[in-house]
Amino acid sequence: MTYLAQEKQSTHSLEPESSRDDSADRDRSEPQTGDEASHQRVFPEGDRYSRQVLFSGIGLEGQQKLGAARVAIVGCGATGSALAGLLARAGVGMLRIIDRDYVEPSNLQRQSLFDERDASESLPKAIAAARKIAAFNSEIAVEPRVDDLVPANVEALLEGTNLILDGTDNFETRYLINDYAVARSRSWIYSAAVGSYAVTLNVLPGQTACLACIFPDSPRGMVETCETSGILNSAVNLVASITATEAIKLLVGGAASLRRTLLSFDVWTNERSEISAGKPRAGCRACGERDFVYLAGEGRPHITLCGRNSVQIHERQRPIDFAEMDRRLQPHGVVRHNGFVLKFWHEPYEMTLFPDGRAIIKGTTDAAVARSLYARYVGS
Ligand SMILES: [Zn+2]
Repeated sequence: MTYLAQEKQSTHSLEPESSRDDSADRDRSEPQTGDEASHQRVFPEGDRYSRQVLFSGIGLEGQQKLGAARVAIVGCGATGSALAGLLARAGVGMLRIIDRDYVEPSNLQRQSLFDERDASESLPKAIAAARKIAAFNSEIAVEPRVDDLVPANVEALLEGTNLILDGTDNFETRYLINDYAVARSRSWIYSAAVGSYAVTLNVLPGQTACLACIFPDSPRGMVETCETSGILNSAVNLVASITATEAIKLLVGGAASLRRTLLSFDVWTNERSEISAGKPRAGCRACGERDFVYLAGEGRPHITLCGRNSVQIHERQRPIDFAEMDRRLQPHGVVRHNGFVLKFWHEPYEMTLFPDGRAIIKGTTDAAVARSLYARYVGS
């Protein structure tokens, strides 16, 4: 039985939306949404995907499966942009793009779906991505969701999809995706890039290792992030290309040729490694014991409002080296520290960081904003 056939039984219909031809007069500058998108054919049938159909691994049948597939991309930064661009051009029928951030000038170096106008207008990434995709493939549906994936909305945001792709920048969200995917027997692909390093893992619940099999806990201490270590756009495109290919294999039923390893590659040093991930690990919290702490909202540091315009992140297990953190944060704002506390000013926010990883972020009452800042500059 193919992957798609399994999904068809267990989740939602993969049939094309019934409203496909309803809105031919729609203004093309507006992003399309899955429920009311116009999907009329722009070019003669067979033209657009002809080179892909010629590829023996896909063929006409595979192309039709791609057209019926529904894929969620969580996070539309660099990796998410590249994944969405590749899969949209390949003809995946529906892409749900979930991202709560706005396009900024520093994104343009690597986030391939955005342009200068998106950055000057501070467009939400999900909306900008949907518009850009509509300009090169209006025959597929894009559902932009300007939202942060959290336990409270994970069901609503991911339901009705066949496959989940990771375009996030933090482990907290990845463990949430992993819990959801394992609980619902839905495949997902982990992808990450930082500096010149890229890493990816296919997770087929019950068949392969899951993220928690390989990394039982999120990295502790100060984690390298794109904000602190930079990132090469080529590392992003490498991991996105590998992930998009694995996604296509899954969607066309080519599971036999899927990679069953955790693959990492450094495009600068050319170091490459693969760790076997062919089997679930006995005793794994997620796929063995089915203890979905992230889905239940227990796996994340508690975040509370504190004061009129501040949020506190109650992290206690992330020892912070202030001297090192000072060095990392210098390019991004003013930093001061003594033995007890480190202060970091990054307009319009002020972050106060304690040695155990606890933080108070002034300048917002939005837990998602605070969590995102913390993930970018301290770790996730
Ligand atoms: Zn596992």
